[in-house]
Amino acid sequence: MNEQFIRKDGRPFNSLRNMKMEIGVLNNADGSAYIECGNNKILVGVYGPKELYSKKHSKPDGAVLRCKYNMIPFSVTERKRPGPDRRSTEISKLISEAITPAIFLEKYPRSSIDVSIEVLEAEGGTRCLGIVGASLALADAEIPMKDLISACAVGKVDNHIVVDLSEEEDQTGQADMPVAIMPRTGEITFLQMDGNLSVPEFEEAMQLAYDGCYYINQLQQQTLLKKYGGE
Ligand code: UDP
Repeated sequence: MNEQFIRKDGRPFNSLRNMKMEIGVLNNADGSAYIECGNNKILVGVYGPKELYSKKHSKPDGAVLRCKYNMIPFSVTERKRPGPDRRSTEISKLISEAITPAIFLEKYPRSSIDVSIEVLEAEGGTRCLGIVGASLALADAEIPMKDLISACAVGKVDNHIVVDLSEEEDQTGQADMPVAIMPRTGEITFLQMDGNLSVPEFEEAMQLAYDGCYYINQLQQQTLLKKYGGE
């Protein structure tokens, strides 16, 4: 049944929106990435590792990863008030947690690694793209990592399980489940669920999420190879 289902934007159930990735786009950051996915546009900059003098915030056994997700006021149809809010604080925390398992933080005791995720334009799926972009920017900063973390959302729209929900699908759909994985091991580093899925629907959605993440991982690797492959 899913095979015949065509979504409002013309995609079949298992198609992601067109994606474009680039790294090394900012001169003054230690690492950076720019991602487009449909109409989403996200810029990520990494600063660090740098020594963290504050005893209160530093850790003797490794670096502290501090991700900051921010939506600029004109990134959405209805102007967003500048500055942090509950949603951006939550997303900043979850992006840090999704990426932490991939980084050898223990190599940098009493240090911090700051990651700024600026959403320039949003169209659904920005937390996953933030994870994908942050992971690329960290690799661009040459921070040792076990793997690149890949992420995409799956969900239920018009009774069909679909991947990479648009803003409209996110808002009108029956379920939305963003997922991040470490492709090499298949470990899930982040999963949220908004709405309801039955057990078979959840299993179908997870399979679609894995397929989507592995596809995105290929694009991430190609993006890194384009810059560093010849060396
Ligand atoms: N959105 C918006 N205004 C806001 C927050 C979100 O218009 O203040 C839109 C934006 O396009 C975003 C989408 O709603 O991508 C879905 O938001 P959600 O909180 O589900 O996060 P996301 O899917 O971006 O990770």
